Amino acid sequence: MSVRVIRRVGDPVLRTPTDPVCDFDEKLHAVVSDLEDTVNAPGHAGLAAPQIGVTLRVFAYNIEGRIGHLVNPRLVERSAETETEDEGCLSIPGLWFPTLRASYAVAEGFDQYGQQLTLSGHGLMARCLQHEIDHLDGRLYLDRLTGETKRAAYRALA
Ligand SMILES: [Zn+2]
Repeated sequence: MSVRVIRRVGDPVLRTPTDPVCDFDEKLHAVVSDLEDTVNAPGHAGLAAPQIGVTLRVFAYNIEGRIGHLVNPRLVERSAETETEDEGCLSIPGLWFPTLRASYAVAEGFDQYGQQLTLSGHGLMARCLQHEIDHLDGRLYLDRLTGETKRAAYRALA
């Protein structure tokens, strides 16, 4: 399909909780194609539908050479063990801040044809699952920052 323009922080669509996908139809397939085409670029690890202006519960990822997507994802497991690594967002270009995340996560959902699909992983995949599902709930990683890091982030955005 096509590479889409990525919405930037400040766009209200990024703060709008998404609607669950009900129809695994041509319209959904087009959204998935656009997400996968747009995430298929160096330095792009994940992209959620609101970032291309679509308020549906679906995201795409590009991790370790694998591109895929997950529809109606639910985080079903997060490790108690956490790690703090620099995190960025395609909607907040040029900035990275240390962000606390569970170091392992599991998400259940569906592929674009309605088949059940589970994604899981450590490190970047765990971070991606948590970051993208936040997007689908209208949250940005900035919301996860605390203390001096949060102040630095808001100064950088001002
Ligand atoms: Zn993001």
